[in-house]
Amino acid sequence: MTAPDDNHLEHPSIALLFELIRRPSITPDDAGCQDILAEHLTRLGFECEAMPFGDVKNLWARRGTSGPVLCFAGHTDVVPPGSDGEWQSDPFEPTVRDGNLYARGSADMKSGLAAMIVALENFVEAHSDHTGSLAVLITSDEEGRARDGTLKVIEALQARGEHIDWCVLGEPTSQSTLGDIVRVGRRGSLSGMLTVRGVQGHVAYPQLADNPIARFAPILSELHTVEWDQGNEFFPPTSFQVVDIRAGIGAPNVTPAELSARFNFRYSTVWDHEGLKAKVHSIFDAHDIDYELKWHLSGEPFLTDAGKLTEAVTQAISEQTGEAPELSTGGGTSDGRFISPAGTDVVELGPVNSSIHKVNEYVCIDDVVKLTTMYQRIAELMLT
Ligand SMILES: [Zn+2]
Repeated sequence: MTAPDDNHLEHPSIALLFELIRRPSITPDDAGCQDILAEHLTRLGFECEAMPFGDVKNLWARRGTSGPVLCFAGHTDVVPPGSDGEWQSDPFEPTVRDGNLYARGSADMKSGLAAMIVALENFVEAHSDHTGSLAVLITSDEEGRARDGTLKVIEALQARGEHIDWCVLGEPTSQSTLGDIVRVGRRGSLSGMLTVRGVQGHVAYPQLADNPIARFAPILSELHTVEWDQGNEFFPPTSFQVVDIRAGIGAPNVTPAELSARFNFRYSTVWDHEGLKAKVHSIFDAHDIDYELKWHLSGEPFLTDAGKLTEAVTQAISEQTGEAPELSTGGGTSDGRFISPAGTDVVELGPVNSSIHKVNEYVCIDDVVKLTTMYQRIAELMLT
């Protein structure tokens, strides 16, 4: 299984990564991963606290009682492997080919977890008298509903007055090479479920019917042409996308009584969800239309301003790769949306994400070793 060019297989991060991958922790099942992490952290002098909510396991671990608090965060759950036949090797048996480690969760994000635990071990060994506190926040509910995971842990911490100053999330943020992109924020995500009501009728007698498709068409056009904003230094312009429209009863001579549609906004910090909803309603209300709109907010946008944490992360990466990372807010949502609102600076840094959620997901073994050094360096720059 091991090719001659596969160095680093003895590295503690890789050993830990193997252990984690062999636990098939399909969301929201943690499959014992957090017990392994807690064992390591307890040995390091962390106080480990299980924080289960519903069927979701969460782990909060802290070393130290004073501030500031530097927290490493992530998730043990993975998405299902999907089409088994297309995997070249067992998705839950780490397999090395050409310096890459293939398995479900290898990039998203068990390598992030393994790297941060070993980074903390190295850091504490060298700086057992560090300032402030180290913390680790792990959930098994990031890939699923994300209701009983990080969100609930943050609520519980806030309720007892425990504050996280800085958080490094180990999500796979790199695009082509390790550390080329870090996330300093994420766009918000707001979905709308629309129903337009009309009156069904004969296509030849439109005056006797009320076609909801015709009612909605000009509004849809307007929603597409409105300039929601121009974005800002860190965010692209807000985007509106329709993902589904249905109407019609399947007969060519009948206009329908109802239309339903779903759409989604990915929005910048120019908006909050209330403002965006109000703007959409004002567009609908300017037309003669009988409609109902239900909303689902996945997360408000957040942005971590340039400061000590972004500087430390940039320096830690530059020292390894020779290049400063791009500070970006692209990609989907992440658990950063739950951590940031508590007044926490959040930066996400992890391995290359080109294979995440796909069959034959992999991570470059050398990158996991480098990532370990980066995390360790961030801790040094923040807490010594
Ligand atoms: Zn992830």
